[in-house]
This record gives sequence, C-alpha cells and structure tokens, in this order.
Amino acid sequence: MAANVVKTPFLVNDLVVYFVSPRVAHVVEVDCRIELTTTPDSCTCCTFRFRSRLDPDYRCRHIEAVRQVLKQARRADPGSEQVICGH
Ligand SMILES: [Zn+2]
Repeated sequence: MAANVVKTPFLVNDLVVYFVSPRVAHVVEVDCRIELTTTPDSCTCCTFRFRSRLDPDYRCRHIEAVRQVLKQARRADPGSEQVICGH
C-alpha cells in the first residue's frame, strides 16, 4: 500500500516529506536544514525523543505529517496530483 509515495516530495504545511520506503520518510522543515528520519511511529527529532520517554503515545508534527501523507495517498487515485497541502 501507498508505494506510490516513495521518492516523491510532499509538502505538508511547512514540512517537506520525502519517503525513502513505504514506511520511512525524511522530513525537512522549510526554514531549517536539519533532515529528520520519520516513520508513522517514530522520529529522530529531539522533541520526539524527549517527549516519547514521558508519553509513549506522543507524536511530533513530523509524525503527524507522515501519517497525513500516507492517509491521503491511500485515498488518492494512482497518478493523481503529487503535492498534498495542509488544511
Ligand atoms: Zn519529529
């Protein structure tokens, strides 16, 4: 599922989400050069690593962006518009 998202950059609000596999994405903030490695359940950002120790269910906005792309990709027709904008 959602294999069509791989190797395509998606813009989600102010984040660029780039999947390197169907469940692993690189996330870059437009005003920041740090590239994060994010899955639907984990993220390499400091916020997630710190908060997830206190709250195992915590999701940073990078994880939310990855989940949003995957959710919309499942609904989208194959070959439809590649850029998904936020609300
Ligand atoms: Zn994060």
